[in-house]
Amino acid sequence: MNNNILIVGGGPAGMEAAGMLQRLGYNTMLVERSSKLGGHLAAWDRLFPKGLQAKETLDRLTAGINGVKYFLDTDINSINILDDSFNVILSNGITILAKAVLIATGFDLFKAEKKEEYGYGIYDRVITNADLEAYYKTGKSDTIQNPKSIGFVHCVGSRDEKVGNLSCSKVCCATAVKQACEIKQRFPEAQVYSFYMDLRMFGRYYEDLYLEAQKKYGIRFIRGRVSEVSEKEDKSLLVKAEDTLSSKPIKVSVDLLVLMAGIRPAEAGKRVGRMLHLSNEEDGFFSTKDTIRDLQMSKIPGLFFAGTCTGPKTIPETLNDAKSAAMEIDEYIKQNFPDRK
Ligand code: SF4
Repeated sequence: MNNNILIVGGGPAGMEAAGMLQRLGYNTMLVERSSKLGGHLAAWDRLFPKGLQAKETLDRLTAGINGVKYFLDTDINSINILDDSFNVILSNGITILAKAVLIATGFDLFKAEKKEEYGYGIYDRVITNADLEAYYKTGKSDTIQNPKSIGFVHCVGSRDEKVGNLSCSKVCCATAVKQACEIKQRFPEAQVYSFYMDLRMFGRYYEDLYLEAQKKYGIRFIRGRVSEVSEKEDKSLLVKAEDTLSSKPIKVSVDLLVLMAGIRPAEAGKRVGRMLHLSNEEDGFFSTKDTIRDLQMSKIPGLFFAGTCTGPKTIPETLNDAKSAAMEIDEYIKQNFPDRK
């Protein structure tokens, strides 16, 4: 009997769930539209709160999918819901009949150039959190040349009515504090400023990271939203903000400005969502069956979710979500197809 499970998305959630389902005895297939597995994790250098190398986690995930058949550079062309399965046609021409489908399409980073007032794509020395992480990973950057002062801007594309997204991306406060500490390790003489609305350091060891940033690295946290960035003749940047604690406008000159681009629903996920007529919450992420218990289930029997396609999550949360989804799929198959093996 058909024992196929299809996973859409080869980031950490898809990989973790795929490995688990394969070990549970299913014929697990994974479709990834890009040319490699790992999603954003593959582009990251170190993870908060303790600075573990992203590669270590990725290597473990890669080892875990031994036996899983995966297709890279492959899109979903169509998904049809049949009585007890899903008929899926891939862009490589392969058709899969799957008993269950797991959507793990992840997220896109907010396109920072949409916040024109911050100058990304206009001024050379304005970069994003992803650009900075790429520098940490490769050690190469045309932009980062011994900066004497560096600013971090939180909530870029998040909690912002102007861009139509009021929700919090959850992970960028901790990422900003981690990245600020790392830049001080590389440039100990530099002055580092962090412009925040509130600091959402909610997880285990996050508060320690925040204290370390202040005490060990002397990072200056300024509560206030940046209103405008302009470039000076020498290519340094003038950052205008309002310090909301003192209610005074402030101007800070920096040699490098890092925008903490937030988490948005993936365009690729939206496309698959349209094929299946899935509903979204106001924040654009997929609606789950309920909001308390069935967080990995959709309203369509046999269709499940894992990871950030249902909202921002840290890497540990994503991996736990994926494990839960795999267990939910196993339970669904056992209940609905008791003679599956
Ligand atoms: S986690 Fe922090 S930086 Fe990210 S959106 Fe929430 S408050 Fe803003």
